[in-house]
Amino acid sequence: MLKDKDTDKKDNRFGEFGGQYVPETLMSELEKLTKAFEDCKTDPAFQKEFHDLLNNYANRPSLLYYAKNMTEDLGGAKIYLKREDLNHTGAHKINNVLGQVLLAKKLGKTRLIAETGAGQHGVATATAAALFGMDCEIFMGKEDTERQRLNVYRMELLGAKVRPITSGQGLLKDAVNAALQDWAAHPDDTYYLIGSAMGPAPYPAMVKEFQSVISKESKQQIMDVEGKLPDAIVACVGGGSNAIGSFAEYIDDPSVKLYGVEAAGKGIHSGKTAATMELGTPGIFHGMKSVFLQNDEGQIDKVYTISAGLDYPGIGPEHAALAASGRAKYVGITDDEAVAAFEYIAKEEGIIAAIESCHAVAYVQKLAPTMPKDSTIICTLSGRGDKDVASIAKYRGVKGIE
Ligand SMILES: *Cc1c(COP(=O)(O)O)cnc(C)c1O
Repeated sequence: MLKDKDTDKKDNRFGEFGGQYVPETLMSELEKLTKAFEDCKTDPAFQKEFHDLLNNYANRPSLLYYAKNMTEDLGGAKIYLKREDLNHTGAHKINNVLGQVLLAKKLGKTRLIAETGAGQHGVATATAAALFGMDCEIFMGKEDTERQRLNVYRMELLGAKVRPITSGQGLLKDAVNAALQDWAAHPDDTYYLIGSAMGPAPYPAMVKEFQSVISKESKQQIMDVEGKLPDAIVACVGGGSNAIGSFAEYIDDPSVKLYGVEAAGKGIHSGKTAATMELGTPGIFHGMKSVFLQNDEGQIDKVYTISAGLDYPGIGPEHAALAASGRAKYVGITDDEAVAAFEYIAKEEGIIAAIESCHAVAYVQKLAPTMPKDSTIICTLSGRGDKDVASIAKYRGVKGIE
């Protein structure tokens, strides 16, 4: 039975979204986790260990790079790139994983589980499990394990077990369900390390807290070079962790426009899309109330995008609330536009960026020319693109690259 005992507790919610819709057995685990999370925010020992790991293991702070060539070519706002692609394991995901693994230790857990779609969050979690000597099992849709053999092998190299999920459609959403079930069956030793700003409270707030290092740094960095706040932040959105981390420190600065960029796949109205905010409706899934792509009966739709990391039929609840209040704007970018941006940023700036991040880059290509030359945009490059080279080659019909 699903319960939301905390409908009255405002701090579990972002506007009408969020909450805790989980089986009874998990409620006490979520309570313990909430307490540990609240404590860690003001615990100097926790904060020191977290920031040591970020700086000395994950390679933070990440650069805020002035993209001079793109700026000159697009002829409008000055473009800065927040380089999460330079982190250890090649994306922003490690920030959240390092924070949560410390919480798991604090709670006395010895086993980490996580869901993964393309395998990036699975690899980041397996990395932390290796570092801390914990058991690790990654839940991955069967179809994804076949499409992403290389990442499955990476996780195995790091000592994790990968469990292929055949229930449902054998995709990411089914892996999340399987992980929730496993957690409910083994609450004593197991910690569920969710990979995006989604799921039941406190996960969305917790993932935001750990990812907000992105905007804490970028605010300091842009003040140092420009002496003023940026005019816009642009970040891609799957579940929304890199975007909420990129927005966090600016949400209370109304002059800073916030843009979340979703994957529109073959086009918003093509039936092959992942543009949740454009087409989704409110619903309850994966332990939270948020906006989902679903049919009239509330069945979750199958989503499509070239970008495995944006392949999620929902969005984190705080994004749903930021959209509802109008504080942030959500836009769609198609496969074609993202692939063109992948090639563009490689040629202009010498950076091979993740195809997910290139959705944000494609939107910057549209936005920057509409803004004055003394304005600034910070675009988060959530990850590096080595993993995407083969599929971009295939998209372009280049033969002989596996
Ligand atoms: C996983 C991933 C994303 C999407 O996840 P969010 O939680 O929306 O940030 C975006 N970019 C990269 C490189 C990823 O690995």
